[in-house]
Amino acid sequence: MSLEIICPRCESDDDLRGTPLDDGRIQLTCEACSITWERDPRPTCPTCGGDDLYHVPQVILEKSRGSQMSVQGIHVEYGCWSCNPPEVKVRGGRTHHLPDRLDGSQ
Ligand SMILES: [Zn+2]
Ligand SMILES: [Zn+2]
Repeated sequence: MSLEIICPRCESDDDLRGTPLDDGRIQLTCEACSITWERDPRPTCPTCGGDDLYHVPQVILEKSRGSQMSVQGIHVEYGCWSCNPPEVKVRGGRTHHLPDRLDGSQ
């Protein structure tokens, strides 16, 4: 029972609650952030069947009162190192798609 699970938002494992779902995944709740997400204990790549995957947490934001964005939840997607390696930072190269968000590092 000691999978290394941390909250993708606050990176704490103190306030996590896990609820097994019917399909074998686990729904996790971080009570510190009041967010929930689902985790597949053994995700595999649908393309190559490999299990060498990395996590891509997608924060779901929603505009609340005023201009503050509040976190509604986190949807964890998986990427495959073989089929979908994480975006490599190429300087001066062509990029075929732009990330959804800007890092603000430019
Ligand atoms: Zn949290
Ligand atoms: Zn793959």
